[in-house]
Amino acid sequence: MFAVALLLFISAGCQEVPVTGRTAVNLVDDQDITAKALEEFEQIKRMQRLSRNPAQIRIVQQIGARLSRTVFWDVPHADWEFVVFEAPGVLNAFAMPGGKVGVFSGLIDFCENEDQLASVLAHEIAHVAARHTHEKYSQGMLLKPLGAATSIGIGMSTGSTGIYLPSVGSAAGSGVTSLTQSAFDRGKEIEADHIGLIYMAKAGYDPRESLRLLQRMEEHVASQGGPSSNGWFANHPDFPERQIKINELMPEAMAIYEKGETQRTHTVIE
Ligand SMILES: [Zn+2]
Repeated sequence: MFAVALLLFISAGCQEVPVTGRTAVNLVDDQDITAKALEEFEQIKRMQRLSRNPAQIRIVQQIGARLSRTVFWDVPHADWEFVVFEAPGVLNAFAMPGGKVGVFSGLIDFCENEDQLASVLAHEIAHVAARHTHEKYSQGMLLKPLGAATSIGIGMSTGSTGIYLPSVGSAAGSGVTSLTQSAFDRGKEIEADHIGLIYMAKAGYDPRESLRLLQRMEEHVASQGGPSSNGWFANHPDFPERQIKINELMPEAMAIYEKGETQRTHTVIE
């Protein structure tokens, strides 16, 4: 009887993931999770130093405008906001339910061009479009008595594209622990790569630059003597696995990119 009730419950709380078409469980309230994310984003903005670098702010706004147009119908209620934090050496970015996106200046410094940076933001936005945070907490609710789920958190997926990534909390001593604790599982990371690759191509960014950035990050991590234990590698799939999957999807992404329905830009980051 309980099983039947549970099945009914689950079937009532499902959603289809954009691009991949996967059916995902969603038992959490969108307004609740968005309100919580917004609260945490405001807290991060108070605790982190905001960038005053006009060139970096401009490039992030430009990418943000194009990606948010691309994903409009997949995340229709989002109120997109793209903020650059001054944090040299922090190769990280995140996106929250509701459309709040943070980019750390170290990541912008590291990227060679607009397309590489767009690949990271497209991956982060893919987590939001796929409602991975909703799904993660829904899964937690199924494993525990309802009401016992941990606080919602924001589903920061530390950087998408690799690198050793100091957590937001430890990077700035802000103590925003819910961010660092809400890493996604392997399947969701691979799915975000897939969705992000298609999104970047649709937005007019060269999908091959995502692989170029992954390779550069791999070299960077090797030069640092391996991943840091609390960084990106602690909870993300290996580079080879990501590269294989991205390569499989590349023909589809290139076909979209070459159709060129969106204006292309390729600003070099100095
Ligand atoms: Zn991710």
